[in-house]
Amino acid sequence: MGENGVKGLLLDEPLIFERSSEGRVGVAPAEFDIPEADPKGLLPAGLLRDKIDGFPEVSEMDAVRHYTRLSQWNFGVDSGFYPLGSCTMKYNPKVNEVACRLPGLSLIHPYEPEELVQGALELMYELEGYLAEISGMDAVTLQPSAGAHGELCGLLMMAAYFKDKGRARTKIIIPDTAHGTNPASSHLAGFKVVPVKSDGKGALSVEAIKAVMDEDTAGLMVTNPNTIGLFEKNIKEIARVVHSKGGFLYCDGANLNALMGIVNLGAIGVDLIQFNLHKTFSTPHGGGGPGSGPVGVKKALEPFLPAPRIKKARGKYSLEYVRPKSIGRLKAFYGNFSIMVRAYAYIRRMGGEGLKRASETAILNANYIKEQLKDTYHLAYDEPCMHESVFSDKNLLGYGVTTMDVAKRLIDYGFHPPTVYFPLVVHGAIMIEPTETETKETMDKFIEAMKSIAEEARTNPELLKNAPIKTKVRRVDETRAAREPVLRWVKK
Ligand SMILES: *Cc1c(COP(=O)(O)O)cnc(C)c1O
Repeated sequence: MGENGVKGLLLDEPLIFERSSEGRVGVAPAEFDIPEADPKGLLPAGLLRDKIDGFPEVSEMDAVRHYTRLSQWNFGVDSGFYPLGSCTMKYNPKVNEVACRLPGLSLIHPYEPEELVQGALELMYELEGYLAEISGMDAVTLQPSAGAHGELCGLLMMAAYFKDKGRARTKIIIPDTAHGTNPASSHLAGFKVVPVKSDGKGALSVEAIKAVMDEDTAGLMVTNPNTIGLFEKNIKEIARVVHSKGGFLYCDGANLNALMGIVNLGAIGVDLIQFNLHKTFSTPHGGGGPGSGPVGVKKALEPFLPAPRIKKARGKYSLEYVRPKSIGRLKAFYGNFSIMVRAYAYIRRMGGEGLKRASETAILNANYIKEQLKDTYHLAYDEPCMHESVFSDKNLLGYGVTTMDVAKRLIDYGFHPPTVYFPLVVHGAIMIEPTETETKETMDKFIEAMKSIAEEARTNPELLKNAPIKTKVRRVDETRAAREPVLRWVKK
């Protein structure tokens, strides 16, 4: 067995099309006891075809083995360490998976009448309350489907607020340490982005905000902790500057995993925030699957929250659609309801103390890795970090080795690479977020791997240039893959 079980019985697998054999059948359904209908009479001719070109014809076992083998090539939190910075790839307790699969919760139809889904509405109503308590906000909406969707929701509410006040504001301030989705969402919401540089220590200064904050600016959007993994220590004073010009302080709360039970964001001046339930509150993520990005607001923005709102009156829950100032609906249905169930189950199981311990441990783990590696790798900002730390390839460039080589070589050691080349403020960034769920033993193995890669950079840089060498597929040409994607199987 190699490091972390890299080697093993991993079988090669052709494409499902290549497994095809004409006439082979996967499933033989029982004979129909109703008369066969001719589709020609039922569907327009343009929608009918006699055969599908290249359609794979395989047995049931072929299909099962094909997909099972492919699934074994996957890497996830359940298979190993996944220190992807800014993504909070923590272990998701299986009990939450059980909770969200309970038939009473998983089989609800979106058009079911309110009186039949009181339990689901109660769960959502209470989850809103928990998130409000964790963040220090007055009201929360569960509508947005992901973090970036939450950002858009928040920005649209800010725009609606100023329009309602009779004077629209056109600009949003965004620091260079913000997540890339922040300027993108601002642009989508119709704002002009005013960029601001962080100081030499990775923090946002009061002066920098003072210099640009004016009465045409709707507010400041700040990722806190920022993408360097540092807490914005001037945030209280910065909030005062923003508020003095009548603006809002938006906090990108995707990295809330570092703050639960430790910081009351509402109390330090944050007016609105989005939560990434799929990151902080336990949902397997990273495959592009459904997310959930609730938004919390202070009183002033409450009338603008998306409709419908979940209301509670005389012990009954209902959906309130008539809200004159609301920005309206962000989506038709709560198709991501199961993520809310997971978050609810997670919060209930952890409790306030548990959430606080999770955040404290996440911070401790990140600082442990930072301290263990900072003599080997160049640390971008030598400050106590929150949930993640950012290194760079500065020490390795002399050997011709870059961040990408380190990341690829980590795969040979059995680890998912950290986030690389992000944030952009750090050249050749390597951003490591271990999360609270990893043991010291796992982190020590990772640290050892990182150190031995640094040693290889000195002694055998050629090896790193060719990494990964133990994988089925060696280093791929990512640029070409992005520019000339081959998305269709062509029969040879
Ligand atoms: C992940 C992340 C986002 C985007 O969240 P999505 O759910 O992927 O849309 C935004 N900001 C920060 C800081 C993040 O880490």
